Amino acid sequence: MRRKIVAGNWKMNNNISETENLLNKLKMQVIPESVSVMVAPAFTNLFSAFNSLKEHPIKVIAQNMHQSPNGAFTGEVSAGMLKSVGVSTVILGHSERRVYFGETNQLLAEKVNAALKNNMNVIFCFGEELEDRKSKSHFKVVASQLENGLFHIEQANWDKIILAYEPVWAIGTGETASPDQAQEMHAFIRETIANAYSNEIANRVTILYGGSVKPANAKEIFEKPDVDGGLIGGAALKAEDFMAIVNSF
Ligand code: PGA
Repeated sequence: MRRKIVAGNWKMNNNISETENLLNKLKMQVIPESVSVMVAPAFTNLFSAFNSLKEHPIKVIAQNMHQSPNGAFTGEVSAGMLKSVGVSTVILGHSERRVYFGETNQLLAEKVNAALKNNMNVIFCFGEELEDRKSKSHFKVVASQLENGLFHIEQANWDKIILAYEPVWAIGTGETASPDQAQEMHAFIRETIANAYSNEIANRVTILYGGSVKPANAKEIFEKPDVDGGLIGGAALKAEDFMAIVNSF
């Protein structure tokens, strides 16, 4: 059985008191045992979020990190720093990092290495842009993101990897991939991993879908056999919506 995960990516939203308010609302909810629930607040709020959720099953994760252990990298945060505040999972390769901050597959490969070296788990994000889909190159683009950003890792490290397929045209746009489109790509991703590694690894890895998931569409997406949960942006900012998604399995 694959691990089911719903992770909320709060992006650059919520100051410290808003973070505490949202966490307090989430903490009042019952978390189903069958789902791992994670939230990714901004760097400034990770420490207080970790402390707030210490006795709670919701896990605090980070939205990004730098690939170097330390040094003259103004404005950046390292894996060691994240671990020192209790964070052991990091989102890498989100499309906003790729598009607005120029993160390439090659850079992401280095970030993945840094995370693994620090024994961290990675939610590795990837997905095609609208142009790629229109020109029918979406499978090729996704395969290349995986091959160049992730497929250098050793077989044993796949236990630390969670994948998040997020078609860029569906992020924050209100436009969701149809459940069939998500399933088709998730099946392709497993096949690509099976070819590069093994069927066992392909069948074991959790693959999340992300892009305008909301309470109204989560159930039909999560019902697809190769979709193991979601990476949620906008709808993760409201406790009721996020919990409705968590309870959609
Ligand atoms: P969205 O964002 O749910 O607001 O589309 C998803 C994401 O960016 O992970």
